[in-house]
Formats: sequence, structure tokens, C-alpha cells
Amino acid sequence: MNNTEYEETKNNVLFEGNFIYDLIDKDLEEGVYDHVQTRFPPEPNGYLHVGHIKAIAMDFTTAKKYGGVCNLRLDDTNPVKEDDEYVNAIIDDIRWLGFEPNSVVFGSNYFDACYEAAIRLIKKGKAFVCDLSAEEMRQYRGTLTEPGKNSPYRDRSVEENLDLFERMRKGEFEPGEKTLRAKIDMASGNLNMRDPIIYRIMKVPHDRCGDKWCIYPMYDFNHPISDTVEGVTHSLCTLEFEDHRPLYEWVLKEAGFEHPSRQIEFARLNLSYALTSKRRCLALVNAGVVSGWDDPRMATIAGMRRRGYPAPALLNFVNTAGMSKTYSVVEYSLLEYCVRDYLNEHAERAMAVLKPLKVVIKNYPEGKTEDISIEINPNDPGMGTREVTFSREIYIEADDFSEVPPKGYKRLSPGVEVRLKGGYYIKAEKAVYNENGDIDHLICTYDPESRGGTTPDGRKVKGTIQWVDANNCHDAEIRLYDRLFNTPNPSEGEVLDNVNPDSLKVVENAKIEKYLHGHKAGDTFQFMRLGYFTVDKDSTDEKMVFNRTVTLKDSWTTKQK
Ligand code: ATP
Ligand code: MG
Repeated sequence: MNNTEYEETKNNVLFEGNFIYDLIDKDLEEGVYDHVQTRFPPEPNGYLHVGHIKAIAMDFTTAKKYGGVCNLRLDDTNPVKEDDEYVNAIIDDIRWLGFEPNSVVFGSNYFDACYEAAIRLIKKGKAFVCDLSAEEMRQYRGTLTEPGKNSPYRDRSVEENLDLFERMRKGEFEPGEKTLRAKIDMASGNLNMRDPIIYRIMKVPHDRCGDKWCIYPMYDFNHPISDTVEGVTHSLCTLEFEDHRPLYEWVLKEAGFEHPSRQIEFARLNLSYALTSKRRCLALVNAGVVSGWDDPRMATIAGMRRRGYPAPALLNFVNTAGMSKTYSVVEYSLLEYCVRDYLNEHAERAMAVLKPLKVVIKNYPEGKTEDISIEINPNDPGMGTREVTFSREIYIEADDFSEVPPKGYKRLSPGVEVRLKGGYYIKAEKAVYNENGDIDHLICTYDPESRGGTTPDGRKVKGTIQWVDANNCHDAEIRLYDRLFNTPNPSEGEVLDNVNPDSLKVVENAKIEKYLHGHKAGDTFQFMRLGYFTVDKDSTDEKMVFNRTVTLKDSWTTKQK
């Protein structure tokens, strides 16, 4: 996929040709709606994860495709103290993905509308105040195979219901003493339709409404009303709400809303080796298994961003996974493929060595430094070239030298020549050992005629290795990540039991080109031969920290077998 196609994925054509667009087209044709408006409605009880990207992409792209708007609506119907941290992180993540909410609203903005709708329902004889306790209500509810029983309070008069509801609002009753219930059908095959509670008493102040209310609407009541009052035409959500749709429609119809929103469901995105539940992610954070919501191993948007997954690659990923109504688990390797694919096109190339071995090139003049050109990105010649310094002492990867090479070894060994990336041919002469018996440094010679990677005699070498000028480099810490879980479905059983203890390996003393020093958090490079690496926010002037975003090749799929 080229740059332009990525831009298109990002801006326009996500999920082209899916069943929801077909339903919307039909609604527009039939004049059910004359415009399209959507919303993204998260509960601010955690950071957004990879699954939310699908919903965000769908909600915002649908609005854009049909020339409408999409609001971010934070669902704060439950007045428990929520965290501004979560609200801010949600807004930040959406923007980072490249979407801008038309406005940021809250479910609580519609509490007045809900209250008025409740009064209308009571007046129509469609809602009643019930005195059953939670336990009694469970007993009356019936089961999937048996119908429920009517509450003994179901036939209260409209006047009595209005009076009691008013007194509920004034705080005359305690939580659990009374609820307001929709009067629908206790024999319905759909349990959600068995006179569901629509208002409950909670003597808790609300973040945005203060002490205005001591009764709060249930989500199933607030949601359709928020959607409709806000002007949302198509309320897109995940399949677990399918059974709630009859109630959604009932509320809007019976409370007399003239232009009701329409709910349409799609399948959740599930990703192997990842958690797609805020609650479970929170458990990991609280247990200290990860460093926080933005730990680069987390499948949160914040974590993936810190790891270096580019936003267009994430959008391409959810787009490739597709929009359907069938449950499925998408392979983590598809996500990595999309990341790699994007970075291959876009990331600058640079050189680093994770396990440095010093090389002294004995026939290279002492004190001399020269510039060697490397291509910034061979896939995009337009990005041009960059100069890298070369001198008598360089670092190479320790694994690129073998005193006694195994069969088929293509790198340096005594008497064998390799090409330095962009530079000269060098030949290993002698390894110098320290008192511990480890190699201290390697003595090599170079061929002055091989500059640029070829020689006049056309001599071939088997390997090309990366290197870093020892006189012009920096130290770095490199964090290598593996799957956070040992099992493709970490939600099965105890999440904490499924954690992979080796999901993080820290390389303390890597050497990086001087050029990499000073880049900012989030900048991603291909370290030649090593993979893609992104500057972490923990970087300091003394020590850069990089996260391995993804390896160059998919080693995982083969490793699993
Ligand atoms: P969680 O269990 O992680 O808290 P949720 O379903 O409660 O998730 P909300 O914050 O209420 O999440 O969700 C906001 C929107 O994102 C909803 O419309 C929901 O349907 C959608 N969504 C949540 N998880 C996924 C997912 N895995 N795939 C696609 N959409 C999702
Ligand atoms: Mg939720």
C-alpha cells in the first residue's frame, strides 16, 4: 500500500461496502432520515483499546462519508467518581488517530430530557414506581425458559406513580427502596423487555450535575434518549446490544420522540494475545504487571502509540479486519503486518548495534573521519540520502563475528570479508581477548577501494552488516517486547496467570548513531537488520530509550508451530 492509499484509508474509504452503509443508504433513499449523524459513546472508566479503534473508525468515517458529524459522548450515567485522566486520554487518543469530534458531550447532558421522558411514560401508563427489592425483582423476573411475574405495584394509578416518582426525585426514599420501571411485558422472550428498571435512586453527587439528582437513569434509558435528542441518526454499537434494541426502540416510541435514532450492531473486534476490555486492562495496571495504561505491551491506543504503531497502520488494520456481524478473533500477526508494512514505506533507516563489539580497522588512518552516504529509505528514493561518519573504530553486532563459524555463516570470521552497510569491505584479522576470556575487540583491515560497497575487481562478499562509528555515537537502552500473554485468549481463566514473564527484555548498552540522539518520543526508525524502533518518553539527554515496535519479519508465526 502506498502513501496515498494510506492517506485514503485514514480519511475516507474505511470499511467500504459494508452492511451498515447499505442500511444507511436505504434509510436515506426511503427518506427515513435526510442526513446522517453518529456518535462514539465510551464510558470513561479506562483507556481506549484496540477494539475501540474499530468503533471510532466506523463512527467517524460514517459521519464523514455522508457529510454529517460525529460527537464524542462520554457515558457518565453512573455517577461514580470518574477520572479526568480517562476523559482526557480518550479525547487525546481519538485525535491521535486522526479524528476530531464535532463536539464533546456527556450522557448527563440529557438527564433533563430523560426525566421529562419518564414523566411522559408515567402519564401514558407505560412506567410505574416499584417497591420490590433487588432480590424480589430477581425472583419475579423469570428465566430464559420461564416467563416472569407482574410486580404487585404494576397497577398503581398514574397519579400515585407521578407522586411517588416526584418524591423519589426529592430524595424522600433511600436507594433500593423504589425504582421506576417501564411497563412492557413480563412474559417477553427477551429478558430486557420484562419491565426493566429505567430510574434508580443513588444518593451520590455527580461530577457534572453536582447534587441536582438523587435519581439516575439507567444506561438503556439514557442512551436512546441521548442519541435522539442529540440528533444522532444511526447509533452504531457492538453486538452485545442487539438484545437491547427492542428496548431502545420501545423507549423512543413510547416516550413520543418524533425522529428516533436507529441502532445498528456490528461485531466486536477481538485480537489474539490481547485484552479488549477496559476492566481487565485495569486489573493488569493495578497488579503492576505493566508500567501503566500506556505500557508498550498493552493493546491500548496509548500503549500501541508509545510502542510506535502508527495511526494509519492501526486504521488499516481495523479496516482489513473488516466490518461484519460475525464473531471472530483477529490474529496479532495481522496487526504487526500492518505496522511493518507502513513503517517499511515510511520509516527512516538508521544504524544501531544492540550488543556492541568494538572493531579497530588497523590500516585506516588514525584521527581520520569521513562521511558515508546512506539512503534514508530505499523504498522512497525521494527521501534522499544522509551522511554517516566512519572512522578507525566502529562497533558491530557481537553476533556478526564468529571465531569458529558454523556452516553457512555469512558474516565475519577470521580471514573472511564482509561489506559494511553503505561503506567499505572489512576483513577480520584477529580477535583480542580480555582476562575473562571474552573478546575485547576485533582487529580488522579494510579495502580502501571498496568504498560504496563494490571493488574494481568485482570481488563478492557473502554478508553485509550494520555498524556504528565509535567516535560519533551514543548509548541507548533498548526495550525488546514479546507477546504480553502466553495464550492467544488471555481472558480465559485468570488473566494474571496468563502473563508471559519474558514479555520485556531490556538491552542496557546499545550503541546508536549520533543522528538518532535528540529525536523526540514517538519518532520511529528502521534500525537496519534489527527491526523498527521508536523513541520512548523515558529518554533523557544522557540515554536514549527505544522501544522495539516490531521485528523486520514475522518470527512469531513460525515460532508458534
Ligand atoms: P470495555 O468492556 O472495554 O469497557 P465497553 O464495551 O464497555 O468496553 P465502552 O467504552 O462503553 O466500551 O464502548 C464505547 C464504544 O466502543 C461502544 O459503542 C462499544 O460498542 C465500542 N466497543 C467497545 N469494545 C469494542 C470492541 N472490542 N470492538 C469494537 N467496538 C467496541
Ligand atoms: Mg462499558
